[in-house]
Parts: sequence; structure tokens; C-alpha cells
Amino acid sequence: MNAVKTGSHAASTLEKTPVGDLVDGKGHSSGAEWLTRYSTSLMGVFGTPQRVLVRGAGCLVWDADGKEYLDLLGGIAVNALGHAHPFVTSVISSQLATLGHVSNFFTSPTQIALAEKLLALTHAPPGSKVFFANSGTEAVEAAFKLARRNGASPDGTTGKRTKIIALEGAFHGRTMGALALTAKEAYRAPFEPLPGGVVHIPFGDVAALEAAIDETVAAVFLEPIQGEAGVRPLPPGYLKAAREATTKAGALLILDEVQTGIGRTGKWLATEDAGIVPDAITLAKGLGGGFPIGALLTFGEQTSSLLAAGQHGTTFGGNPVATAAALATLHAIESQRVLENVAVVGDYLRTGLAAVDGVTEVRGEGLLIGFDLDAEVAPAVVTAGLDAGFIVNSPGPRTIRLAPPLVLTKDQTGTFLAALPAILRTAKDAQ
Ligand SMILES: *Cc1c(COP(=O)(O)O)cnc(C)c1O
Repeated sequence: MNAVKTGSHAASTLEKTPVGDLVDGKGHSSGAEWLTRYSTSLMGVFGTPQRVLVRGAGCLVWDADGKEYLDLLGGIAVNALGHAHPFVTSVISSQLATLGHVSNFFTSPTQIALAEKLLALTHAPPGSKVFFANSGTEAVEAAFKLARRNGASPDGTTGKRTKIIALEGAFHGRTMGALALTAKEAYRAPFEPLPGGVVHIPFGDVAALEAAIDETVAAVFLEPIQGEAGVRPLPPGYLKAAREATTKAGALLILDEVQTGIGRTGKWLATEDAGIVPDAITLAKGLGGGFPIGALLTFGEQTSSLLAAGQHGTTFGGNPVATAAALATLHAIESQRVLENVAVVGDYLRTGLAAVDGVTEVRGEGLLIGFDLDAEVAPAVVTAGLDAGFIVNSPGPRTIRLAPPLVLTKDQTGTFLAALPAILRTAKDAQ
């Protein structure tokens, strides 16, 4: 085939250029050298990164200085199958080599197949639909716009329900709409005014919820387990009560499963056994196995038609590569019996943690785990953990969160449990 006619790239030295040459023309830099370059070129919103990571395989990653870590955070509940999963890697690269991006003027087989697959896995009722985005906050943003359409006339001028309810401690993302749903004052205050009408009510309090819901409420947003708030599950019965109250008032019940979905709790959805049918679900983090993708699922014909043609959109969302990555991830989770692993290893990990001296409470489900310490040393535990070769996260001063790859083994878990007492001692000594 003629390279010029097909527009394909001529075989040249370009194709033989390793990515390392693009990022590090000066020879291999140390972690410290990279971080100096980082601080002069990257915006400071994340603070100083803890390490410069260069490679991963399964549940392990390596930094620029060659040190190995057991990744118990999984890119914050993203790397469902660990790092460099051979099947996901091959599907992504073959899709990219076939067709990478087309815009939403067009569709592609992987996009359609993924939408069908997600509706099947979530037991969505007839008439349910999917909107693809690139991240969690974008999935929530779409859900926010969906909520604004609840009860509104076609042109939006009349009948709009003005209130949206979210919970204290909620985290729904960082873009303006999602931020309006997020509770944390430090995240919100610098950016006010935020989209209006959002009311935060006390966490897990059914009476407060029932008192807050009336016919002016467009939607209630709930995380089944609040991840950023330290892995805090909704109390039993809360979702059922929320479903009853929202149905009665004509408000949408929107479940944010961005962190808890896609096998994280040992089930496809954390809310799968709650005995309720929501109006919408947001997904993202684990969905692409590390590749960025988000999704809003709308349940039933009526909710699915709230956003009309032209009322929402995205350039990248649902592109062939992202949707192929998600299809590959879902297939691997199914065919490698990953959900069973999550249940077994999650139980083992929680039981082990509860027996560690200095651990006062263990929460969570499957491989989304939070545990509290008897002192405010969580940030020091993160540092001591890294020095000992473990990646963990501290969402609060005395809370540690684990959201490892869903393929974590019992052996790997055992290594961490054995190392934890010394990590806690080091952290306390460092205070
Ligand atoms: C992480 C998260 C988000 C935001 O997702 P991003 O991909 O970071 O935008 C939204 N909701 C929940 C529950 C999350 O955990």
C-alpha cells in the first residue's frame, strides 16, 4: 500500500524511537531530578508527588530509583486489574491501531457493545440508556444536568425543580457542577458561586432525608460508601428509605458508584443487593482498567429521555479506545473470576487489619477498605508505608484507605499485614 495515499506513517526511525527518548533525552533521571523538573513545570494543585513511578506489573510498581512497591491504592480504585494487564494492553493497542477516535458524529462497535454490556451487568430495566464521558466528575456532571431537567418543560422555562440533595461528607468530583455536590468546604469555598440549589444533609440520617425531600427536589445524589470521607458505608435501610422518599416526591435517585462500582466491593455494583432500582448510576474509576472513561446510566424510558438531542455532549467521551479498554476490563473481571477474589481477599485483609495493634476500626466492603488508627498519624503512615514498599492513602488524619487492584493475592495481603505493625511504629516515632 502507498503510504502517502493511505496517510499511514512511513516506516522510519520514528517508529523505533522508544518513549524513554521522548521524556528523558538527558539519560535516566533520578526521582529527585524528576521532582525538581515537576515543580518547575506542573501546576501545584497536587502538592509534591510522593514518588516518580516508571513501571508497573500486576499489583507492583517501580519508581525512578528502582524501588518496588506493592500498590494497595490502585491509582485510587482505578487499576482494577493491576498494572500492564496483558489482555487489556493488547485490546487497547489493537483498537488504537485500528480506529482510535471518531467524534460523536459517529459511533463504533465497541461503544455500542459496552453500553449494552453495562446495562446488562447492572440489570437495567427496559428503556435504560448510557452516556459515556472521560472521568468520574464528567459522569456526575451529566447526572447533574439530568437532574436539572427533571420536571422541566422542553425549553426548560417552567416546572423546573430547583433543589438537589447530597450528603455531608460527599465527594462527587471537582468540576463546578460536581463540586456543588461535593461537601468539603475547603474544596468549595475558593470557587463560589457554584451552581445553585444543592443542599447537604446529615450523613445516613433517614429522618433528615425525609424532612428534606419535597416536590421542589430534582434529585438525591448518594455514594453507597463514601470513599473520600474515609470509606463510610451508608447505614442498612438508608437506600430503601431514599428510594421510597424520592419516588413519592418525584425526585430522581442518583447513585454515584464511581468508586464503588465495577467489582470494587466484590459485586458489579455496591448497591446490587440493596433491593432498589435507582434512576441513574455514575461509573468511572475502575471501568477502564486504568484507561480514562466514565459513564452515566439512566434507568427506564422516562429518565433516559430527560436529556434531549443537543442538550449534552463530549468530544472524547465513548471513543473506540476507551470503550474497548472497558470491554476488555469487564471481560477479564468475568473470565478470571475476579469478583470472587475480591470477596475472599477483602475478608482476609479486613480480618487481619482488625487484629493489628493500634487499628481501632475497620470499614468497607470487598477491596474498598478504610481503617482508623489510635492516633493522628495517618499521613506519617503513608510515608512510612512508602519507605517500607507499600502504597496506601490517608483520606483523614487518623484514617487509612486501601483500594488495591482487584487481583491482589492473599500472599501479597499477608506481606502488608506482616509489615503494618512496624510501619505504625515508625509513623508514631516520626510524630
Ligand atoms: C473519584 C470520584 C469522583 C470523581 O472522579 P474523577 O475521575 O476524579 O473526576 C466522583 N465521585 C466519586 C464517588 C468518586 O470517588
